[in-house]
Amino acid sequence: QVVLEAKHVTRKFQVAKDVYLTANNDINLKFYKGKTLGLVGESGCGKSTFMKFLVSLDTPTKGEILYRGEDITKLKGEKLRLHRQNIQMVFQDPNSSFSPKMKIKEIICEPLLNFKRIKRSEVDQTAKNYLRLVELPEDLINRYPHSLSGGQKQRVAIARALSLEPEVIIFDEATSALDVSVQKNIVDLIKKLQKENNITIGFICHDIALIADIADYVAVMYLGNIVETLPGDKLSTDAKHPYTKALIDSIFDIGMDFSQKIQSIDSEIPSPLDIPAGCPFCDRCDKVMDICKKERPTEKTISQGHDIACHLF
Ligand code: SF4
Ligand code: MG
Repeated sequence: QVVLEAKHVTRKFQVAKDVYLTANNDINLKFYKGKTLGLVGESGCGKSTFMKFLVSLDTPTKGEILYRGEDITKLKGEKLRLHRQNIQMVFQDPNSSFSPKMKIKEIICEPLLNFKRIKRSEVDQTAKNYLRLVELPEDLINRYPHSLSGGQKQRVAIARALSLEPEVIIFDEATSALDVSVQKNIVDLIKKLQKENNITIGFICHDIALIADIADYVAVMYLGNIVETLPGDKLSTDAKHPYTKALIDSIFDIGMDFSQKIQSIDSEIPSPLDIPAGCPFCDRCDKVMDICKKERPTEKTISQGHDIACHLF
C-alpha cells in the first residue's frame, strides 16, 4: 500500500538572471505502509531539498507529492496545519529544533498542546510515557536539553515526532552526528518503534552501509536525479548502476570516503549549475558511451522492485 508518493518532482533555484540550479530533477518515489525508504547520496546531491517537500517546508517547482492520493503541495492554511500531524521529521541536529529554555517534558508535549490533544495537567505523565517508549529514564522530564547527551537528545526528538502518532516519519541524517555504537542503538530503537506502530519511514543518509541495514528499499540520488532504486537486502549483491557500485566499493576501501573514491574514478563532481546534458554521471563514469553525453537515461524496471536509469540497461 502506497502512503506517500512523489511524482515528477523537480526543484529549480534561480541563482542569477536566466541561470537556474536544478536541485531535484523529475523524481518519482513511493513510500509503502510500514516500510522504510532509504535515500542515499553524497552531501549536496539534493536529498534534503527533496525531504523538505514531504514535510511541507518547501514546494517543488514542478510535480506532485501525494499523501493518500491528495497533492499536499497544494494545501494551505488550516488544512495544511492539520495535515502536518501526518508526517513528522527528525533532523540531524536536535539543538536546532529544541529551544534551550524548554524542559524535556515541554519539548516532547509541545506538538500535543498545539493540537490540543492533551491538557497542561497531563504534560508530566504524557512526557514520562514517551520517555519510556524511547527507553529513557522518566526523571529526565524536568531537565533541559543541554544536560543530555547527543544520543539522548535524538531519543527525545524521536519521542516528540511520535507524539502526534504520525503515519510517516522522515529522518534527515538523524544518526549521522552520533558515535557508531550510539547510532546502532538509535537505529535499533527506530526499527522497534516502526514495527510496533506500523510507521512509514523515509531515512536519508550519506552512509550506504547504514542505509543497507535499515532500509526496505533504497533510492540512490546523484546530482538531484534518482539513478537506481532496489530492495535494501539486495543492495550489496544486485546494484548495477555504475554510481551505486562506486558507492558500495567505497565501503571496502578503509580510510577513503566515497567522494574520494569516485574522484579517483574521474575528476571533479560537476556543479549542479552545469549538470551534463545527458546522463548526470557521464563526466565521472568509467563505462561512459557516446549516447550517455546526449540523452538522459530514463528509469527502467529490470526486476521486481529494481529500477535503474542508465543506458547500459
Ligand atoms: Fe555511465 Fe552512461 Fe550509465 Fe550514465 S548512462 S551511468 S554515463 S553508462
Ligand atoms: Mg542534507
